Amino acid sequence: MTTTADARPAWVKPHKLASWTHWVSRPVSRGSDATMTATAPYDGRPTAPVPAGTPEDVAAAVASARAATTAWAALSYDDRAGVVLRFHDLLVERQDEVMDLIQWEMGKARFHAWQEVLQVANLARHYARHGASYLDDRKVRGALPVLTRAREVRVPVGVVGIISPWNYPLYLGVGDAIPALLAGNAVVGKADPQTPLTLLWTRALMAEAGLPEPVWQVVTGPGTEIGEAVVDHVDYVCFTGSTATGRLVGERAARRLIGSSLELGGKNPLIVRADADIAKAARGTADAAFANTGQMCIHIERVIVHDRVYDEFKRALLDVTTGLRVGQSYDLSHDIGSLASADQLAKVSAHVDDAVAKGATVLAGGHARPEVGPFAYAPTVLEGVTDDMDLCLGETFGPVVALYRVHDDDEAVREANRGSYGLSASIFSTNAPTADRMARMLRAGSVNINDGAALAAGSIEAGMGGMGDSGSGRRHGAEGIRKYTQAQTIASSSLGPVGPPPGAALETFVALGNRQLRLFRSLRIR
Ligand code: NAD
Repeated sequence: MTTTADARPAWVKPHKLASWTHWVSRPVSRGSDATMTATAPYDGRPTAPVPAGTPEDVAAAVASARAATTAWAALSYDDRAGVVLRFHDLLVERQDEVMDLIQWEMGKARFHAWQEVLQVANLARHYARHGASYLDDRKVRGALPVLTRAREVRVPVGVVGIISPWNYPLYLGVGDAIPALLAGNAVVGKADPQTPLTLLWTRALMAEAGLPEPVWQVVTGPGTEIGEAVVDHVDYVCFTGSTATGRLVGERAARRLIGSSLELGGKNPLIVRADADIAKAARGTADAAFANTGQMCIHIERVIVHDRVYDEFKRALLDVTTGLRVGQSYDLSHDIGSLASADQLAKVSAHVDDAVAKGATVLAGGHARPEVGPFAYAPTVLEGVTDDMDLCLGETFGPVVALYRVHDDDEAVREANRGSYGLSASIFSTNAPTADRMARMLRAGSVNINDGAALAAGSIEAGMGGMGDSGSGRRHGAEGIRKYTQAQTIASSSLGPVGPPPGAALETFVALGNRQLRLFRSLRIR
């Protein structure tokens, strides 16, 4: 794939951009020339202007999405799944386009952009084929056995708001929208100001797959204002982002009594037991620490190593880390790309500089790579990190990992459970029962055994989410689609209203009721 003089992929011509920005939903401010433009990490130059909406646009977008829900929800699940499966096929076929856009807007390496395609395609296929079974009616015994029936059914919530960050613009912008749409909801997605084109490209592709226009709307504009407006109007909000913003979103949603799922930050630990396969542990650590240039909620930032294998593991990790190819290209020739923005570079540098100033030792990296790109940063390994350093228990969200030495499993678990987050954790060990026992003691929504991070996230039939400050609610699996519905109980009687028949003495009815209680108890009914 060639680029123009700047980092823009050469095929991204004005008419292409117009075909995507057409999908910005701003019914109220249509015609206004307000735009927003992000900075491309590869060259520090502007990407392309995207129309910017207002909170009034969000209100109108939600209203038109809500008007569309009746017809969309009335379709059969299979009809909706047909759209999603066509989207799947188009995505797989046209993946180079979206990978170019992801890289241009966000700066990650090609392989990490491909992982987004892989994850979204897997989610689309899985929920299209199996989502209906997660939403099946549940028959239960009625209030009066035999004479009455009851079922619990799932009904769509209405309009789902999806607020996503810039680090996985395809996966987090679309992967959560797919089950919401399949469950019969309309979606209003808020594009992150750094990565709107990826989401708009995807919206256009979903239209090619046959999704009716009002059913999925994309709103743009200043993050706080537009994000708050989304929470103020939708019927459910799926938020992914920082813990600080997640708290605000959760409070705002709670005031409106709407449901929310909050997928937030992490400071994820990886434990290397004394019996671990060290080569595999080192490779797994590097993969999980530096994936997406360390800008991944589940990436590893703390490595807790048994004293007996500490030196051997350190050597192996440094070998892998120094062999990583850091660079910027629209192909698979680099392992690690750029950080996403000047802000990210400043935050990551500040964490590392603070640690070094307070006595941490840099074993690898520890500095920017301006010769690679304006926001590139070297994969970094530290040791000697102490509690007074910002990066000790605070999320760095960059390609930086710190090593800690422990002397037994209990100490490893205690160290891993420190801090307020609880998103993901990993254990490398050749003793499966022990690793399983330790996994249950870790405060983390996902635990990977003999893998750094991707294994649990890729197990899309199981939930993924956080404990503690890492959030509430789950994506993927049954909960990843059920959360977009509400349970409704439908009870029916073939007798007419349950209660004393007309004219019956209440004394007789109560006596019969008491006899039934004793009968049920002795026959063990219920
Ligand atoms: P952020 O919280 O700053 O922004 C996330 C989204 O919220 C953006 O679209 C932003 O425009 C919007 N927003 C900002 N203020 C808002 C408000 N007041 N109300 C509603 N929306 C608002 O997060 P970020 O820095 O862009 O993303 C990185 C963070 O996201 C990291 O902490 C990372 O760990 C976390 N993250 C978590 C997961 C997960 O699944 N748990 C996945 C990816 C990223």
